[in-house]
Amino acid sequence: MTLTDPARRELALATKGFMPPDEGDALHAAALAAGAAVPGAPWVEVGSYCGRSTIWLADAAERCGTVLLAVDHHRGSEENQAGWEHHDTDVVDARVGKMDTLPFFRAAIHDAALEATVIAVVGRSPDVARVWSTPLAFVFIDGGHGDEPARLDYAGWSPHVAVGGTLAIHDVFPDPADGGRPPYEQIYLPALASGRFEQVAETGSLRVLARTR
Ligand code: SAH
Ligand code: MG
Repeated sequence: MTLTDPARRELALATKGFMPPDEGDALHAAALAAGAAVPGAPWVEVGSYCGRSTIWLADAAERCGTVLLAVDHHRGSEENQAGWEHHDTDVVDARVGKMDTLPFFRAAIHDAALEATVIAVVGRSPDVARVWSTPLAFVFIDGGHGDEPARLDYAGWSPHVAVGGTLAIHDVFPDPADGGRPPYEQIYLPALASGRFEQVAETGSLRVLARTR
C-alpha cells in the first residue's frame, strides 16, 4: 500500500478537524484505488472544514495525476455552531459574526504544497451539485450531518460517481449510541439499496462503496 507523504500526514494531523488518523489513511488508500480504476477523472470532497481530510485526499490525487474539488461553504455545519458540541471559537469571523474556515483551509493546503491539486469550491453543496456534470472517480461525503443536508448530498453527488469509481461516506453510525444517524440512513443505506453500489471497505465510521453499474 502506498502511504501518504509523511510530512503531509503530520500536517493533516496538526490541522483542525474531525478525521481520525486510521480513517484518513483508509481514505487515502481508497482514493488511490479509485484513481487507478477511473484514471483522469476528477474527485470531489463535500465538507472540507479546515482541510484535514483534504490533505490525505489531495496527496492521493496528486499521485494519480488528477485534481480534487473541495466543496464547502465554510460556514460550518449545525453541530459546529456556537452552543453545539463541535464548536471552536477560533474559527468565527468576528466581523461577520459567523464561522469562516476558509482561511484555515487555505493555509493548510498551502503548507502541504497542494495548491496545484486542490480546487476550492466555496458554496452550498446542493447548489454546486446542481451545476455539476463531469463523471467523478471519487466522491467523499463529509458535509452536513442533518437529515436534509445528508439526503441532498446523496441525491446531488452519487449520480456523478463513474461506474468503477468510489463513493466514500464519513460518520456512518449504524448504532445510534455511536453518533447521529443521517449519514447512515440518508446516504449509506440508500446507496446500497439503489443496487448501484457495493461496500468494499470499512474503517471506523468510514464506509467505502464502489459503483458497480
Ligand atoms: N472533512 C473534514 C470535516 C468536515 S466538517 C475533516 O476531515 O476534518 C463538515 C463541513 O461541511 C463543514 O466545514 C461545513 O461548513 C460543511 N458543510 C455542511 N453543510 C454543507 C453544505 N450544505 N454545503 C457545503 N458545505 C457544507
Ligand atoms: Mg466527518
